[in-house]
This record gives sequence, C-alpha cells and structure tokens, in this order.
Amino acid sequence: MNILIIGSGGRESAFAWKLSQSTLCEQLYIAPGNAGTGQYGINVNLKVTDFEGIKALVLEKGINMVLVGPEEPLVKGIHDFFLADEQLKNVPVIGPQQEGAQLEGSKDFSKQFMQRYNIPTAASRTFTRDTLQDGLEYLATQGLPIVLKADGLAAGKGVLICTTLQEAQQELVEMLNEAKFGDASSKVVIEQFLQGIELSVFILTDGNSYKILPSAKDYKRVGEGDTGLNTGGMGSVSPVPFADKDFLSKVEQRIVIPTVEGLKAEGIPYKGFIFIGLMNCDGEPYTIEYNCRMGDPETESVLPRIESDLVDLLLGVAEENLIEKQFTISPKVAATVMCVAGGYPGEYLKNKVMSGLENIRGSIAFHAGTGMQGDDVITTGGRVIAVTSLQDDMFTALQQATLDASRIYYDGKYFRKDIGFDLI
Ligand code: ATP
Repeated sequence: MNILIIGSGGRESAFAWKLSQSTLCEQLYIAPGNAGTGQYGINVNLKVTDFEGIKALVLEKGINMVLVGPEEPLVKGIHDFFLADEQLKNVPVIGPQQEGAQLEGSKDFSKQFMQRYNIPTAASRTFTRDTLQDGLEYLATQGLPIVLKADGLAAGKGVLICTTLQEAQQELVEMLNEAKFGDASSKVVIEQFLQGIELSVFILTDGNSYKILPSAKDYKRVGEGDTGLNTGGMGSVSPVPFADKDFLSKVEQRIVIPTVEGLKAEGIPYKGFIFIGLMNCDGEPYTIEYNCRMGDPETESVLPRIESDLVDLLLGVAEENLIEKQFTISPKVAATVMCVAGGYPGEYLKNKVMSGLENIRGSIAFHAGTGMQGDDVITTGGRVIAVTSLQDDMFTALQQATLDASRIYYDGKYFRKDIGFDLI
C-alpha cells in the first residue's frame, strides 16, 4: 500500500524509518518531510495544513493511508476533512477527528474529561475574562507554586509555574485580559502543582481496544542538569526505569482504560495515538496532559523498540481490529540525543552545512530541522537531528547516542551530553 506521513520533524523521520521497513508498504510519501526522510520515501513540499494540496496528492498517488504526525492539522480537522469528502472518505487517517483532538487542543476540555472519568490529575478550575475576579480570589486560596495553563495550543509556551501569589495574579490578568497567548488564553486553567518525576506513556487505539507502547522520558530543558529554558525536547530514553510493572499497571487501570472507555462513552471516535503526560508522585500516576499524537523526541526512542510491523498495527487501527494484532516490544534500551542549532531555543542559526553523518556507527540519525541545498544537507530548524541508539543496556545506549551525536558537525551545533544519565 501507499502511505503518506504528514509532518517534517524527527518524529516523522522515525515514522518514515519504521513504516518503510514493512513489506506492506509499497511507496511512502512524506509531506513535507526533511533531508533525512528522502531516504525512506518521496518528499512532497506541502504545508501540513494545506488540506486541498494533501487531497490532490492522495488522489494523484493513490495513497491508501495517511498518518498525521503533528497536532496542528488534527486540531484543525484534517481527519474530518477526509471523512466529509466523497473521494477521500475511504482513505483511513491515523489521528483523531477534531473532537478527539480536543484532548490536546483544549486543556479545559481535557481536564473536564479527566474529572468526568475519575482519571487522577491535579485539582483545577477554569476561568475566563468574565470570571477573572473569581480567578484572582481563587488564586489567593491556593498553595504555591501554582500552575496557570492557557486553554488552547500555545506552542508549548502556555504553561506557567508561578511561585508567588503576586506573579500568579499578574499572569492571570495578562492571559485573560491582555491575550498574552492570543485566543489560546481566552480561558485559563489554574491547577495545583504536582511534585514528582515526569514520564510519558503512549497508546495506539482504534477506539475500542488499545496497545500500550513503550514508555519514555524526555528532557525539555536546554542545559545540562535540567537547567535553562524549555525546548521542544533535547533527548529521550525508553524504557523509563522508574515506570516498573506495578506503576504501569496503575497507569493502565486508572488512566488508559478510563480514557479509551470515556471517549467511547461520549461517542468520540478515536483512531490514533494518545500521548499521556504523567507525573509519578511517590509511585502514584497523575495525568498532566494528553496529546493527540506521538511526542517528539519520544517517538525516536519508542519506535525502535517496537518489533512488530507498524503498518500492520495501523491497519488494525483503520479496520478496528487492533485487538487481533500481534504486538511485541524489544527489551533493549533506546536513547535519543537531539542536536540543536546554535542559539536555540532563542533565535537560532540556520542554513549551516552539515557533515559527519557517514561517521555514525551505532545509532540512527533521525533528521528533524534539515533541508537540502544542492548536494549539501543544511540546518533549517532549531532541533536539527535526533541521534538514537538501541542497545542491550541503558548505559551503552546513552554512551553510544552521545558519541554518535558528537560525530555530526555544523556551525553552532549543541547537544546535551547528560541525557538519561540521571536514570542510571
Ligand atoms: P508541551 O508542549 O511541553 O506538551 P503543554 O503546553 O502542552 O506542553 P503541559 O504539558 O500541560 O503543557 O505542561 C508543560 C509542562 O509544565 C509539563 O511538562 C510539566 O513539566 C509542567 N506542568 C504542567 N502541569 C503541571 C502540574 N500540575 N504540576 C507540576 N508541573 C506541571
């Protein structure tokens, strides 16, 4: 079959790498892809929200399945667009419809959903401009630190952890009254701060049954020792040593099952991935957030550990027989180190020529922000290339990924050399 992946990051590179290994995949297309995805399929220069352009491509190339990587096209309704179109309605889309994508697109929606199904999460209340005064008073009754979250998508910047009441009240005013995050902060969720260690669990669901994918931990801060500004993610590891069998069983019983059952109970069809951001608080899992797609750079650590044919699993999602699909996970450990552009996550260098890729020995290089200029691979984004190593133990995986990341060169290159070493 012919498959189209939508997106251009390290996550989509990892999907392309994995799907292209399947004997069920005849031709893979990636829109728009990057300099690395070209080795697994054909890149097509389309914006991820250009639904008409995607339609034309699907019809022209006889595409049989579409896998959506990032959240934006899902939240904007790409799946609904396909279902509403006579010519596209039989082409399965992996990724939820707009309603299901609200799990990520609206934090108020997801908190209410969790509350309805008793899914453990931090206590919270939502306020709007009309209830700003109530919000300010509510803040005064809460402990510190306290978490303020813009309801809508804010490119990962809409969550503020405030350590003083004054700061929290000022931020609330700015978010609600001064549209600090535009429309995304027309509603604000005020949430209790959870103390613990974060990790992510991913599920693939056809709306009825689910498979729990390998868990992963990502590293968001730019600096070593988890310091400095937040980024899209500087690295990841899978599995997560502190997510043992007992903990994961609690996650399944208290979070995964009620989530899938809750969606079903509300009549929200959901075919795709659900990323569950968790806090492990003294061995008890709490849900921080849902995302309606896989994480980046977690996908780069998760997919190499899936031994089963991913195309077959996705067909199980499309045909609603996921329960019958064989699913095996490698006991090996995957570590991902992200090489970023100089200056990232602030203003960063671009169009720098990359070299050294041929020197990578024991890892896979998943391109993220790269493009081609003539015969040269150049940097085009903040997160440039993810280096993943799959090994028998965590130390070797971390060491190998770090070593291979050091073999890549471009002006201004930076990567964290301590990814995952806190877990050993
Ligand atoms: P991302 O784009 O990183 O997924 P987001 O904007 O969707 O972020 P959240 O994941 O909800 O927002 O929050 C971002 C980060 O803020 C979390 O990864 C976590 O570190 C922290 N955080 C969120 N909620 C809480 C909480 N209740 N207690 C402690 N920390 C929290």
